Amino acid sequence: MSTKEKKIEIIAGPCSAESEEQLLNTADGLNSIGVKVFRAGIWKPRSRYGSFEGMGIKALPWLDSVRHKYGMEIMTEVATPNHVDCVLKYNIDRLWIGARTSVNPFMMSELSEALRGIKIPVFIKNPLCPDVELWKGAVERLLKADISDVRLIHRGFCLLDNSPYRNTPLWNLCTEVQREFGDIRLYCDPSHIAGKREYIPELCTAALNYDVDGFFIESHVNPDVALSDSKQQLKPIDLNKLIKEIIE
Ligand code: PEP
Ligand code: MN
Repeated sequence: MSTKEKKIEIIAGPCSAESEEQLLNTADGLNSIGVKVFRAGIWKPRSRYGSFEGMGIKALPWLDSVRHKYGMEIMTEVATPNHVDCVLKYNIDRLWIGARTSVNPFMMSELSEALRGIKIPVFIKNPLCPDVELWKGAVERLLKADISDVRLIHRGFCLLDNSPYRNTPLWNLCTEVQREFGDIRLYCDPSHIAGKREYIPELCTAALNYDVDGFFIESHVNPDVALSDSKQQLKPIDLNKLIKEIIE
């Protein structure tokens, strides 16, 4: 149990939007456990050519249906200025920038220009490699473009170590980035750190010791058939258990 007074925000939803039915069924489960912000990727950065790369813009009306049916805020990943144009037409409520984008200063400059002056929350994941200057530089580019609500997500780093996790958490590095930018908010993405759902509870406990503001968690109505990241997604009912037993 967290002893902190502050309210921890939960953002949850599937790794990828796969169909309108999958999104609505997942949102139904998440709404019933009190989740207010729904995440789903529609452009998926996959390592290997030919993997499922997301449903693209046809998934935007599905996300809109989630918002209308359940009153949740909707959130997706943008990696190019064209993605930004597409999502702004749907008045997306929040955005995140992924680990394969925050690693690249050219892409961060272009994206920051495309987002210039935007008022919605923009979350920036740590870059794949543990280069703290790259992450700080990504945040700086967003702030210099007058983006007023920038928040951090820790999703672990790609290290060739003996960690059981898919990506190794380096919390001290997050604290350093947070300090550099005053009271910038920090969220933990235990799904992408863990890689396997069994590790998620212990990672949430560790994150709470670092005073995180929220969690960004992958949840799917039927994780076993998910088209991406199936091993690290929780059913809404299991997310509820995690929230009650570890986070609240
Ligand atoms: C995601 O959140 O679905 C994602 C692709 O994450 P990351 O950029 O952390 O790999
Ligand atoms: Mn994922």
